[in-house]
Amino acid sequence: MNADQKIIRLKRGKEESLLRRHPWVFSGAIASMPDDLEEGDTVTVVDSEGNVMGTGHFQIGSIAVRILEFDSSELPEDFFYHRLESAMELRRQLGLIREDNNCYRLVHGEGDFLPGLIVDIYGDTAVMQAHSAGMHFARRAIADALTRLSGAGIRNVYYKSETTLPYKAALDPENEYLIGSFDGNLALENGLQFNIDWLKGQKTGFFVDQRENRALLEKFAKGKRVLNMFCYTGGFSVYAMRGGAVSVDSVDSSSKATMLTDANMELNFPGDTRHKTFDTDAFKFLAEMEKDAYDLIILDPPAFAKRRSAIANGLKGYRRLNTKAFEKIRSGGILFTFSCSQAITREMFRMAVFSAAVKAGRKVRILHQLSQPADHPIDIAHPEGEYLKGLVLEVE
Ligand code: SAH
Repeated sequence: MNADQKIIRLKRGKEESLLRRHPWVFSGAIASMPDDLEEGDTVTVVDSEGNVMGTGHFQIGSIAVRILEFDSSELPEDFFYHRLESAMELRRQLGLIREDNNCYRLVHGEGDFLPGLIVDIYGDTAVMQAHSAGMHFARRAIADALTRLSGAGIRNVYYKSETTLPYKAALDPENEYLIGSFDGNLALENGLQFNIDWLKGQKTGFFVDQRENRALLEKFAKGKRVLNMFCYTGGFSVYAMRGGAVSVDSVDSSSKATMLTDANMELNFPGDTRHKTFDTDAFKFLAEMEKDAYDLIILDPPAFAKRRSAIANGLKGYRRLNTKAFEKIRSGGILFTFSCSQAITREMFRMAVFSAAVKAGRKVRILHQLSQPADHPIDIAHPEGEYLKGLVLEVE
């Protein structure tokens, strides 16, 4: 171990989760740490007897260390490059890098053994988000490594962490190009074109995580009157159009979102009158719309429960939303319903949807149980990485 390596010692017995390869050390597990430890420092974690558990980023807060490398007191040479290369290799294996598909998630935090880091790729631009101070300090090394990845063709790296870093850290991150500059924002997903607004849009600009679920929706869309609630960039709507829907209505309470949807529709289906956008609240729209007006409804709301304390209210929200959709959907209709709340488990969500069906008096069958796609992998040691749940339902 280097003489200047900073060491965190755990309380007795508190190394257990690390032995199971869960990458977080909670502050309550710590017996001692150096006085001069600063947020974002790279630290080595040892058990109560001094055995090395791993090395990671230190953070002030409940998650005190995010382990980057287990069983080692240092990060290997060119650590980020090698981790990114293996993330890239997985995406290659998954067949996500193709002429007709150049947007995908390259780094999904813990799921790619890079806790605190998210990277989405849109053509030749990587959009990077740091969720920890350590990743913020490493941002230039990460950006440099991204452009060195063979075959990835990444020329621009946009850093977007103004809203993702812990605000108490006072890092004042600026959203900026670390490498390159804006050179277009058109990305292809399964042959469909999307304008990605990473400068002003939510998250990295696009919800890459719904790609497979959108592709499934396309297969259900033929001849249907489709309602896409919480449309944001209109992803589901564009796929429904390609799938042969007779009409597609897209709803979002943000006018920026409906403008993005209109623009993406125009890119793929210029002048097609089957599509309309509605700039209004989803609950209001559902309450006011006519019964039997739609054959296929998509409900993909923002996370209703961002943390555990919000679970009960979140579940109420899902129940209320799904009840409204069940009350209105045409008999024999199909409902795609989602929760992206990490704190709400698959079972809880299914129960909420079940009680909505009971309340609306509809008989419902589960056709598909959906999840996040393989470019959002879940480290089995870190079940917290699972967040997206969905059900495809047939409503009698
Ligand atoms: N389905 C989208 C992602 C949805 S993100 C996709 O595939 O890309 C959630 C969206 O819900 C955001 O665009 C947000 O503006 C919208 N939203 C939040 N609250 C809303 C409400 N009460 N009514 C309508 N839209 C809402």
